[in-house]
Amino acid sequence: MNVRVRFAPSPTGFLHIGGARTALFNWLYARHTGGTFVLRVEDTDVARNTQQATDIILDGLRWLGLDWDEGPVTSDPKGPSKGDCGPYYQSQRKEFYARHVRELIDKGCAYSSEGAIKFRMQREAVIISDLVVGEVRRELTDREQVDPDFVIVRSDGEPVFHLVNVLDDMDMKITHVIRGEDHLSNTAKHIALFKAFGVEPPQYAHIPLILNPDGTKMSKRDQGASLQSYIDDGYAPDAVINYLCLLGWSPKENREKLPIQEIIQLFDLPQVLRHNARFDIDKLHWLDGEYIREMCAERFRDLGVQALARAGFNIGNYSPEYITAAMATCNGKIKRFGDLAAYGGFYFTEEVKLDSAVIATDFTPESKARLAVLRNAYAQLADFTAPLLETTLKSVAKEQLKIKPGLLIHPTRMALTGSTVGPSLYHLIEILGKGRTLKRLDVALT
Ligand code: GLU
Repeated sequence: MNVRVRFAPSPTGFLHIGGARTALFNWLYARHTGGTFVLRVEDTDVARNTQQATDIILDGLRWLGLDWDEGPVTSDPKGPSKGDCGPYYQSQRKEFYARHVRELIDKGCAYSSEGAIKFRMQREAVIISDLVVGEVRRELTDREQVDPDFVIVRSDGEPVFHLVNVLDDMDMKITHVIRGEDHLSNTAKHIALFKAFGVEPPQYAHIPLILNPDGTKMSKRDQGASLQSYIDDGYAPDAVINYLCLLGWSPKENREKLPIQEIIQLFDLPQVLRHNARFDIDKLHWLDGEYIREMCAERFRDLGVQALARAGFNIGNYSPEYITAAMATCNGKIKRFGDLAAYGGFYFTEEVKLDSAVIATDFTPESKARLAVLRNAYAQLADFTAPLLETTLKSVAKEQLKIKPGLLIHPTRMALTGSTVGPSLYHLIEILGKGRTLKRLDVALT
């Protein structure tokens, strides 16, 4: 079978971590089976849906690296992922829905009622064979016994979620609906609609919810509920992807850290766990540290640039060679990209900010006099490379000033970076280059 799955978010201005995981499981299943991953924006609720709300979802998926395979041609410069396709938008498919509502009415499966259109729901129980939850027999509730029919087009003419969701799954030939367990309660309606159209329903896989560490349901307001908070906090997408996989799926043998290629190879629906997953920020933290520690130079540079840009640094002002060299001195030294601004941000600012307490303790008249000697020695150097910068500093300290090098190293680092922690001093000086180094020393000396 040619697997076709979809992620069908409603743009609410927020990408919930549970939604991100649903997208990921669909994407993984598509990649595992060589199938197709469709992205469909369920934006029929006109009042709530803005392009901005949609962008939050698209940007989140891009950040995670979940590329979609299909959709109408788009000119969005930020980009489709494969070919020239953007997502499908339900707001652009109204004519298609209207046509099928007429079909249901003609068949006697739907009728007008107080301005709205209602679907004639079957009276018998619906059996759902879910790939994760197992077989579920859905009886009519007491209220439904009285009137099981439900609205598919509201009196204002807007088609309802159940209808458009099913019509699109039908039209897009979705073979597997992988979605949150909160939709299990809608599935009987959806299966009945498929039957009314004479189409075999897709296979369903309802994945367990994500709970807070205390076992309560994770709501929008809970800490860590929004994917954006991980982007803002500087987590590596590689770590977030790996972590999200573990929420409701297990690679067995107690394995936790797996490269994405291996996850794709192993991921399958029968291994999706039935019990709810609990959010564990410590595990994410650990994975993030591991990924960053082992990251190759290029990936580190690219993610580092993104993190610094988000923190407000004007990375575009610097040459690619400068950026690569600067990032190489930070690689392996930070635990999280959120820490990069404090560790290596000084490379990308033209002015080092020193607070008055630092000036009072580190730039005393005595220490400034020493720094001035070093400044002049550095000004003489034609070759501004780390080994020479080091021997120069040490000989200035020992021979000219007769002090321990540490007494010179500390204020130099403060003057150049504004911080006591940072990359190896001589390497960072080499990268800053002579112009910036002398300028920063001069600022500290005044
Ligand atoms: N728009 C629905 C949601 O965001 C989609 C449900 C589904 O995947 O079928 O919850």
